[in-house]
Order: sequence, then structure tokens, then C-alpha cells
Amino acid sequence: MIGPVRGTHDWLDTSLFNFVIATAAHHFKRANFSEIKTPVLEPTELFKRSLGLHTDVVSKEMFTIASHDESDSICLRPEATASVMRAFLAAGQQSLPWKVFVHGPMFRHERPQKGRFREFHQFNLELIGAESIAHDAFTLALFEQLFSQQFKLDSYALLINFLGCADDRAQLRPKLNAFLDMHFDTLCATCKVRKEKNVMRIFDCKNEQCKSLYQTAPYITDHLCVSCEKEWHELKVQLEILAVSYTHTPSLVRGLDYYDKTVFEFVSSALGSQNAFCSGGRYNALATMLGSKTDYPSFGAAIGIDRVALMLEPLRAKLALPQPAAIHAIIPLSSAQHHLALLIADLLFDAGLTVELIVDGDSIKSMMRKANKIGAQYAIIIGPDEVEAGTVSVKTMMTGIEEKVVQRDLVSFLKK
Ligand SMILES: [Zn+2]
Ligand SMILES: [Zn+2]
Repeated sequence: MIGPVRGTHDWLDTSLFNFVIATAAHHFKRANFSEIKTPVLEPTELFKRSLGLHTDVVSKEMFTIASHDESDSICLRPEATASVMRAFLAAGQQSLPWKVFVHGPMFRHERPQKGRFREFHQFNLELIGAESIAHDAFTLALFEQLFSQQFKLDSYALLINFLGCADDRAQLRPKLNAFLDMHFDTLCATCKVRKEKNVMRIFDCKNEQCKSLYQTAPYITDHLCVSCEKEWHELKVQLEILAVSYTHTPSLVRGLDYYDKTVFEFVSSALGSQNAFCSGGRYNALATMLGSKTDYPSFGAAIGIDRVALMLEPLRAKLALPQPAAIHAIIPLSSAQHHLALLIADLLFDAGLTVELIVDGDSIKSMMRKANKIGAQYAIIIGPDEVEAGTVSVKTMMTGIEEKVVQRDLVSFLKK
């Protein structure tokens, strides 16, 4: 037997998966976002430039397709924000802010665990050319509404932090380095490397000793310039006006190079150690990192569809999941009635009803058992007597009541 590739999985029931996408799409269309699609295959260069060479994603998690010419290297996209920005810059003039969403599979070569897959699905929301911090506040409120009102989630929290501008981080780096030099011997091996390559990322360390040490580290929110300080203050006030509860988490930096100012994560204890199910932030410099001459301050976020579906599983009964249509099982008693059964199935299907043809059983009993198993509401039984009389027997599965109905009246009988 051939199993799935490690870190991938089959969805045999897509009801929650589709519910997450359809509900989020409907929700954000009401805030004037529109759907786009971008390819799963992208130039590797796109992520080297946007995510940063020293991020885990680029340095060890990319599924790259080997090529003779390095400049032609392509990969399976590890995330969608850089793709959306690439698409925006390629399209040329758009009215701003450009508000779009995109969903689909992403790929990262990570160690699989609960809620973490190598092929995973994201719903991305992006606002390109959206300078005001009010966009951040309003979008966070939209996410909050989606999770609490539509998805009925209750045990989650919104963590936010403010990374300031590039200048603020440049000011902080030597201070952070001085702090790390003081405690160099106690740092884990990963943090020693990060100190040299991308010092802000030390805050992502999961090592307990590092984590407790960093509680006394200099934080970016204590070293903001005047205009960033004002925006950070404004963001908090606006979230309060919108009644969005949040926790300021000064160690939240997100892994990727393109973030500045607002970063956030929605986390849930239901997910174990991979506890973030929606995350994102502001990426004001991404356009220029990708070669644009114009700055496009932007804000975006991704919902982990696999993780949200996992969280929704115990809440199924509370959700407005689409109800399946009533199934009409058509049961000829023997192959002698197959022609009539086919014609009746065709007639009902043409009339817009949902049909299932049950023709593989060897007895009425086994066929009725099948009809029950698929959850049929009606069984339409056709035997020699019915063929003779121009009727069918309609059995309402719930009540067990069986009625003879003239064939030409069948559609109107079932639709009443
Ligand atoms: Zn600043
Ligand atoms: Zn560490």
C-alpha cells in the first residue's frame, strides 16, 4: 500500500475545511476584499529576498525544485504574502489600498507534529498600499469577529507587539547585542548563531533558560521613535475603541524579515505547542525588498485552515454548516427493472433532486440497509408490479410509511 507523503494528509470529509474558507471569504467580501489566485510554484528568489536568507523557512524548510541554473530555481511556495506582493507589483497600477484574499496549499519541510504539516493550507488577507494604522486595528477587529461570531471559538487570545521602523530596530540591535554579550555563556547554540545573523529572532527561542533570560532583555517597544511611539499608542487605543481584547507580548517578533510595526498572533491552548492559528502584521518594506521603486506600506495575515478546522471539530453542532439535501434512493428489485430505474433516476435528477441509484444489492433487505446507511430520506422502490401498474413505491425512511405513486406524478409528489 502507498501511504501519503510524510507531513501531508487526506481530507475524506471536507465539510469543516470548506466551511472555514467559505465563511472567511463571505466575511471579508463584506469588508470589500476580493479573491485572487496566485501559483503554487514561485521563483525561489522571491522568498530569499522577502523572508530573509537567515530565516528557518528559507535556510532549511523550502521545497526547491533543482535546476541547472541557480537563477531559474523554483519552489513550492512556503507562504503567500510575498506572492501577493509579487502579483501586485507585476499587475501595475491598482487602486489603493489593494484589498485581496487568497487561499490554498503552502509547503514547508518541517518536523510534522499536531497541527503542523508539510503541506498546509492558509487563507491570506492582504491590504497593500494601506498606510494608516487604523487599517491594522480594523482588520484585527474583523478577524476577532470572524473567530468569535462565525467560528464560535472562545478559548483563544490575541497577542500583539510593535516592532517599530527599521531605524528603531537599528537602534535596538547594539543594545540587544550588548545584553547578549553579558550573558553569552548561558545562551543556547541557536541563539548564539541568531545573535550574529538576525538578532531580533532570539525572542523566538523555545529554550526555557533563554526564555527566562530574555524577560529582562531590552524590548523594541521601549525604544521606539516619536512617530512609531505615537502609532503604537494609537493602535492600542483603536483596539480598545473596537472592544478587541489583546495582550501585549514584547517578545513576539515573528520569524520573517519583512515585518515591521504591528505583528500579532491569535493563539489557542487547544492546539498544543503549535498554538497560533492566525498571524501576521505590517510589512511596509516588502515592496521595495522585491525591487519596487515606490513604497507600499501594507498589512496582512494568514489563517491556518488545517488548525482552525481542528479547533472547529468539537464545535460542529454550534456551526452554521450547510445542510445536505434530502437523498432519494432509487431501488429496483432486480435487473429486470434497471431500465425503468435509470429513467426515473434521470427524471428526478433533472428535476433538481438529489439521487442515489442502488443497484448492487442482492436483496431488498440489503438494498434498504444501504439506503439507510447513506441517510436517504426516501426510498423509491421499483418491482415487477410497479412496472406493470405504471407506479413506484415511495417509502419515507423516517416514518416507514410506504405509498404507491403514479410515475408521472412522482416529481410533484416528492417536491410537495
Ligand atoms: Zn520608528
Ligand atoms: Zn536560545
